[in-house]
Order: sequence, then C-alpha cells, then structure tokens
Amino acid sequence: MSCVTLAAADAPALTAPAGADVLPPVRPPLGLRRLARAGLGALLALVLPPSCLACRHPVAGSAAALCPACWRAMRFIERPYCERLGTPFRDDPGPGALSPAAIAAPPLFGRARGVALYEGVARELVHALKYRDRLDLAPALGAWMARAGAELLAGADLVIPVPLHRARLWRRRFNQAAALAQVIGRASGVPVETLALRRVKRTPAQVGLTSLQRADNVRGAFRVASGCRERIAGRRIVLVDDVMTTGATATAATRALRAAGAVNVDVLAFALVAPEP
Ligand SMILES: [Zn+2]
Repeated sequence: MSCVTLAAADAPALTAPAGADVLPPVRPPLGLRRLARAGLGALLALVLPPSCLACRHPVAGSAAALCPACWRAMRFIERPYCERLGTPFRDDPGPGALSPAAIAAPPLFGRARGVALYEGVARELVHALKYRDRLDLAPALGAWMARAGAELLAGADLVIPVPLHRARLWRRRFNQAAALAQVIGRASGVPVETLALRRVKRTPAQVGLTSLQRADNVRGAFRVASGCRERIAGRRIVLVDDVMTTGATATAATRALRAAGAVNVDVLAFALVAPEP
C-alpha cells in the first residue's frame, strides 16, 4: 500500500487525521448527549467571555489561556533538566547533566521533552482532552509542546503521533496524540506522518502497572507498515504523545521506528511523570 505524508500546511482539522489506521472506516455516531455538549460548548464560546482552559473561570484576553490560579498550579518544566529524559532537577548540576535514571538505564530514544509535570492542572488538562472530548484544548497544548520541543523539532524530518489500536480508536473516536501532532506540525513546519507507525497489539491500559509490567504490556505493540518503511528510513523523528510515564510506550514505538531505519527518535509529550524523589 502507499504511504502518504501530510505536509504541515495541508494538515486537516484536528478531528480528522488522515489514514485508515487513524480513523476507523465507519465512524460511530457521536451520540445525542455528546453532540449537544459539543454544540452547547461552541454556542457558549460565542456568547460568554473567554474562560480558563482548565477550570472555566473567566479570564481576560485570549480564550486559549489559563487563569492565574491554574497557571501557578502548573509545574512547567524548565532548565535545569536531564538532557535525555527531560525531567527537572531540584539543584542545577551544570549544563548537559543526566539524571540518575538516564545513567542507570539509557533510553532507546534520544531525548524527551515535556511542557509540565503530570500532576494537578496538567493531569486535568490531559484527562479532559483524552476522556472528555475537549479537542478545543489541542491548539493550546500543542502550541506549548511546540515551544517545549523547539530544539527537537529544529532538527526533525517528521512528527509522528503515538498511534492508538483500532479498537481503542473506535471507542474514543479520535487519537489525542494525533490531534497534538497536527498542531505541532503546523507550528513547527515539520511534516506530520500518521500512517506509517501502527499499533498492532491491543494492550490493556497502562494505569496501575509497574515499570516492568508496562514494558511487557507494550512489547511488540508497534510496527511500521511495510509500505511505509521508506518514509521512515534515514529520518529523524519526533514522536508525540500526551503523557510519558515510564517511557515504556515511547521505547516500544522507538524500537519499531529504529527497526525501520529511523536514525533518531526524540519524544515530545505534553506531560512527564515526575521522577522518584
Ligand atoms: Zn483556571
């Protein structure tokens, strides 16, 4: 089969990433309640003042903003952080330093970067995007990600979202990582590839699993489609996901991309889980 890459400028609306593996062949009905909620949200956005992305408290200026309280509650990740894992240091160990976790078990991917630690408001934003159909969050979250991942994107050939398995995509109706990747592609000018990487193994949710169980759970879960290998070979890739917890998913996806000839895979997530104290 052919393997089509979307140029950033051609990227479709957030809800419609191209490709049979990204959208199910027949979309399930939206459901009256969800339809009403989406319609009501759009209507309210027209008549109400802009509100905080997280708590819906009114905010001055842009609609894509956090209120001061939620902004203060976000733990944005800034340097100093581990150059490999992107997790913040409490004290500054100097430029280029690696965390004990990155030294003990160097990741298969090159570098990981995230906007914020996965707690409080950042966790709430991810859950709203993923489980409560808040696709309106993707432009703001994706824009933050493009900024946090500017170094990675500057040297990248392709942005690739972590794919969902067809069955999960069918239930959820959209891939939140693909929605973020489209925004990142438009912001950075790096083409977004949504067809090549496939999730071929239906894995249980990772929540509540240990690091080892997570690694077992996703081992062999990803594969580059045979017709798409030439899209990946020799490319430097930024893999996009909403959250990076232990890195098991990113590692499994990286392994599949490297097996297809990718020269480097970096990871850009909206939220990173804080390292053990
Ligand atoms: Zn707020």
